[in-house]
Amino acid sequence: MKLDATDLRYITSEEFRVLTAVEMGSKNHEVVPTVLIVQISGLRNGGVNKLLGSLAKRNLVARVQNSRYDGYRLTYGGYDYLAMRALSKRDSMYSVGNQIGVGKESDIYIVADAEGNEMVLKLHRLGRISFRAIKEKRDYMGKRKSASWMYMSRLAAQKEWAFMKVLHEHGFPVPKPIDQARHCILMEFIDAYPLRQIADVPSPGALYSQLMDIIVRFARAGLIHGDYNEFNILVRRETGVPIVIDFPQMVSTSHVNAEMYFNRDVECIRTFFRRRFNYESSLYPRFRSTMKEGSEEDGGFRLDVVVAASGFKKSDERILEEYLEQSRENEDGDEDEEDDEDEDEEEESDEEERDDDDEEAGEAKASTVHPDQAQDTPSAGPSTS
Ligand code: ADP
Ligand code: MG
Repeated sequence: MKLDATDLRYITSEEFRVLTAVEMGSKNHEVVPTVLIVQISGLRNGGVNKLLGSLAKRNLVARVQNSRYDGYRLTYGGYDYLAMRALSKRDSMYSVGNQIGVGKESDIYIVADAEGNEMVLKLHRLGRISFRAIKEKRDYMGKRKSASWMYMSRLAAQKEWAFMKVLHEHGFPVPKPIDQARHCILMEFIDAYPLRQIADVPSPGALYSQLMDIIVRFARAGLIHGDYNEFNILVRRETGVPIVIDFPQMVSTSHVNAEMYFNRDVECIRTFFRRRFNYESSLYPRFRSTMKEGSEEDGGFRLDVVVAASGFKKSDERILEEYLEQSRENEDGDEDEEDDEDEDEEEESDEEERDDDDEEAGEAKASTVHPDQAQDTPSAGPSTS
């Protein structure tokens, strides 16, 4: 997907107001009725239709003709736009460069601030692959009947942000987090190759030990990465130092399946080193002994508790976790589902009341809030205070 940086500067304030109205309406409507957009935006009816037309032309919104009413939905492009605009208003970023990665559940871009310093923008894209799967499992979602891609993507970004911050503050080898808005995270650019692309290392044994040490450090701090593999480990070009990325699936060592997640992470590294570098060691960390030794050492300090206290709700955590598990299960087999984002959203177009207890819902209900005021509410980003 192309991100058009020029759009960040060339949108009229009325277009922006209408776009924000569509976002607000999306909190309770999969397809936002045109009349509601008019109401929220507080602009004249005829004017809004024209503005919606021009937003649709730029793929920031899409028109959907429902059996019951006419309306619009926010596209990925529109949501990207709103997030990037928020980041640029806060002077966190200024321009967008090349796409460097298309993850399974994200798009990664090089961006820069006004001084030209490079950073990485990660746009979460949940709902791209296993949207249907989660809808079939609605029971655990309680009153929240639909897991919209916007909601899930934002949740993933918020969780990743919370973890990256805490890990970075405690000296773990992770990129420095810079800012977060909606479904996006801005972080330090690591000049590195993913381990996956590395054919040779000077000392596989040394790298192996470093990677296992990180697993152990994580665990002693109460955390398990959960997707610790050659794609999520970057090896610095200059120094060969490994940096760990990709945190939406991290779990606590108190999780019921902690041991399984821990072993899976360890096995991923062992398997990769065996296959790629023909390196095998009888030394590798075990969950129980790691936890036992750790608890004596660290005086009871636990990062998982710190993260839990950072405001990421248990219920949200659970929804995200179930989603990511589903997505992982679906990985084998349905590769050709990639492009049915649109289909999915049409299916979703039934109007459904959501129990939106998340912060941005406040904006949705407050239809009298001017969009210009709503766009940079603290809920859209990290605590910049
Ligand atoms: P996903 O959740 O889609 O797997 P990742 O966070 O793992 O997304 O990022 C996907 C790819 O983007 C990585 O494999 C890496 O090549 C690149 N990447 C991500 N973050 C950075 C970063 N901070 N610096 C450099 N490259 C990065
Ligand atoms: Mg990854």
